[in-house]
Amino acid sequence: MHVPNLHLLPQTHLKNVLSHPASIRLVKNKIENGKRIFQIDALVGKGYQQMWFNEDTLLIKMEILRASSVYGDGMRIYEFLNYKKIQGIAFPSIVHHTNSNSVFGEAINTYYINETTVETESTGLMLKWNELPAAKQPKRVYNEIVKLAENIYMIENITNSSGYTTYNILFAEFENFILVAEAQLNNAFSEKVIKKIKEFLPGKEIRYIVQTHHHNDHIGGIRGYVAEGSKIVTTPGNVELVKRIAKAPFNLSPDRLAKEPREPVFEIVTNKKLLIEDNIQSAVVIDIGPTPHSNEMLVIYFPKQGLLFQSDMTMYGGWPLNSEITKFFVSKLKELNLTINTIVGSHAGVIKGNNVEKLLKGELADPF
Ligand SMILES: [Zn+2]
Repeated sequence: MHVPNLHLLPQTHLKNVLSHPASIRLVKNKIENGKRIFQIDALVGKGYQQMWFNEDTLLIKMEILRASSVYGDGMRIYEFLNYKKIQGIAFPSIVHHTNSNSVFGEAINTYYINETTVETESTGLMLKWNELPAAKQPKRVYNEIVKLAENIYMIENITNSSGYTTYNILFAEFENFILVAEAQLNNAFSEKVIKKIKEFLPGKEIRYIVQTHHHNDHIGGIRGYVAEGSKIVTTPGNVELVKRIAKAPFNLSPDRLAKEPREPVFEIVTNKKLLIEDNIQSAVVIDIGPTPHSNEMLVIYFPKQGLLFQSDMTMYGGWPLNSEITKFFVSKLKELNLTINTIVGSHAGVIKGNNVEKLLKGELADPF
């Protein structure tokens, strides 16, 4: 079956519910306005799910109360309307979908399913899968602290990925404090990362968390740093978003900030640049936006070490290096005219020495 969004099909949800059989309860079975209605509730993972079925036992409405690890408590409502039978299987032809949380408010969409076909035979391609050569997968260490340069470190591959995309955290040591980039994925990761950094550099506070841009996989763990009391280094466009995430209710799945509420503190990059320095370390936070990836985009340049940290602008052993975004990034680096010997990414591998020159000439090839 070729359906772009499987969550729009009642079958997907019924399959999820049936995988949690012990939680299924028949709450209501009665005639309402001359029609029989069944209500069934279930606990699917950490989500509380209420479902209403009609007299033909077709799912017509569903509400899911669920916690997002980034945006907190939220609700999804589905209405499945105008069922049609195609090859003996019932499909709705209209799906109303409402997704709401306190960060983004309410998003309401209506989908029309016009053409539905059911494939009953597997295609020839499936039979040949095991004959295909295996892709070369980059080998990564897992969650290890790697020294990148004097007083600059990276926690490599916090997600234990062997694939092309990994998540890396950079942290830089100053005389009395630490700067971290960035709060990736969600708060569970942030809490582990904060603990690991504080064990590695005991007695120093994490004073700054630098957020390059607003995408959820990069900013998803920001609540952990708000709870830590770190200053959030970001661009003006993200202030409202961070405030909303910090205020979001996390009653279904309380994190540290839910237990120890605190207001976020900001250090906003205005006029494209912010300098953070003391006797041993210097970091220049630069907004290189607008970029093809996001309007505001921070990079961190460490002039003493000639090291630059970036997110999503290029991925060595990730995205193709000839992408429009990487081309933009290279032109921006030339314009900034910085002396760089190392480029560290929040994803994928480190670009060093000769490879930095190759990247600038557009000649750097994928390492795998
Ligand atoms: Zn992004």
